[in-house]
Amino acid sequence: MSNIEQTLSIIKPDAVERNLDNEIKEIFKKNGFKIVQEKKIQIEKSEAEKFYKVHETKPFYTDLCAYLASGPIVVMILEKDNAVLANRELMGATNPKDAKENTIRKKYGISIDKNSVHGSDSLDNAKIEIDFFFKD
Ligand code: UDP
Ligand code: MG
Repeated sequence: MSNIEQTLSIIKPDAVERNLDNEIKEIFKKNGFKIVQEKKIQIEKSEAEKFYKVHETKPFYTDLCAYLASGPIVVMILEKDNAVLANRELMGATNPKDAKENTIRKKYGISIDKNSVHGSDSLDNAKIEIDFFFKD
């Protein structure tokens, strides 16, 4: 049985800065994801703080928010069968050093903080994150 889901993907500043956004979008498409909506934006630090609020207590929170707001990003709604998990698998581990071959983070990630992409970690969070960027 099919289980079509939508998830939120972000191509982070380190990747957009290196002009990797089109290449990464092609990887999603090749792997069967439909890009339902997309936009290239730059967000304020205050918006990044809201987006990453679950990480508020973590030691990397301040730097993470400053980083997400540091340059243009591409935010996308991706759709596919089991999209949330499929996207997490295609992204690879948070630390590019631990990411498997043929994952986006293995291929493009620079470090644990500059790891090129974000992806929702659950269906509930996917809905919240899609609303965050695309609810008008
Ligand atoms: N992060 C970091 N240092 C860490 C852990 C995470 O800078 O020690 C950053 C990294 O950019 C990561 C983001 O915080 O993508 C969110 O962390 P999470 O644990 O949710 O990882 P993800 O879901 O992105 O794999
Ligand atoms: Mg996460």
